[in-house]
Amino acid sequence: MNASIFWSDSRQLSRPVDIMVSPLGQHEFEDALEFNGISYHIAVSNVAKIVNTESNIETRVESGNITFTEFMRHDEINAYLDQLAVNYPEIVTKEVIGRSFEGRELILLRISSGGSQKPTIFAEAAIHAREWIAPPVALYTINQLVENPENAGFYQDIDWAIIPVLNPDGYEYTHTTDRFWRKTRTPGTICHGVDGNRNFDARWRETGASAWQCDNTYTGHRVFSEPETQAIRNYILSHIEDIKLFLDIHSFGRWLLYPYGYITDDPDNVDELRTLGQLFNDAVYSVNGENYTVVSFANGLYYAAGTSVDWVKEQGIDLAYTLELPRGGTGVRPSSRRYSAGRPRDVGRF
Ligand SMILES: [Zn+2]
Repeated sequence: MNASIFWSDSRQLSRPVDIMVSPLGQHEFEDALEFNGISYHIAVSNVAKIVNTESNIETRVESGNITFTEFMRHDEINAYLDQLAVNYPEIVTKEVIGRSFEGRELILLRISSGGSQKPTIFAEAAIHAREWIAPPVALYTINQLVENPENAGFYQDIDWAIIPVLNPDGYEYTHTTDRFWRKTRTPGTICHGVDGNRNFDARWRETGASAWQCDNTYTGHRVFSEPETQAIRNYILSHIEDIKLFLDIHSFGRWLLYPYGYITDDPDNVDELRTLGQLFNDAVYSVNGENYTVVSFANGLYYAAGTSVDWVKEQGIDLAYTLELPRGGTGVRPSSRRYSAGRPRDVGRF
């Protein structure tokens, strides 16, 4: 098991996990799986090749512009948001809701036709740094709302509050140093970083999370230890009357997960959550023919305590979802190279 990295942390028996193994250890690893009767298949035969492809960007986007053909850096994203606020002052407001540990601005874009205290859709992306597909989806939503006049109706009666990069320190670190970094970048005594989506005050550290600082699901030493999660908490609590729908954007998988993560019991409004989730699925399916699984976090993936989606539900925001997007920033897509009767995998990275 040397030189292997768990990409997901299945906490239930008979659930699939994703493991990256070094070429040197691959044969030994496969032998061990076969010896123990564990079925598997290779989803990505050469991770480095994919990473090198997505990182090898020769032309940068012109400042203030948007692109969806390459992954933008944090400052490029911010330049686009700044430009929108300048170009569309009647509907776009840029708010800095806090700063990351390393001092980067945590930027929220509010899209509104005016007035106050309107029902608000709140969305955040990239609390997990390596999930690169999340910011483009948030940015595409912003782009289509603001710059496509056909969509003006979507913000007449409701406001949108969208944070494209909630963990900018980690996001930049995935660009400069470690493509697979997930956590924030706050220093610990031995290891850096906290899993922001285990840091909320919702049955914190009770299940599906780690108290060990070097783990990818490290909870932090207390609830809301991170400036990034503090900023979200403060913003949501100060707009709690208005926010009617909360969306936390991750990858990968095709999951739309509603609360709870810490227990398999369904929330009181599960019928409403499923109905709206199915409408989401139908809308996506009509475009690309792909189906999402609409299910509770704990029933769909595994237990996780201290998540944002559970916390906002407990604050009274009834429509709360974690969206797991397919394929993710690494372009990970199961290949046809199948070695045994393993289940088709689409395991979320939450
Ligand atoms: Zn995630």
